[in-house]
Amino acid sequence: MKVKCPMCAASCDWEGNPWRPFCSERCRMIDLGAWIDEDYKVGHEPTNNDTEYESETY
Ligand SMILES: [Zn+2]
Repeated sequence: MKVKCPMCAASCDWEGNPWRPFCSERCRMIDLGAWIDEDYKVGHEPTNNDTEYESETY
């Protein structure tokens, strides 16, 4: 059974795929990171760490 990765639209195996419905860990983490980032923005509190602040792109 082949499924289409919702992140990059590549077709990948469903069975034996630990990252399903994504094609790879990378696509899974991108999707996961997307909603974590959204959640993070909502509850974000500024820190005094300038380096950390600069690494965040809004
Ligand atoms: Zn993918």
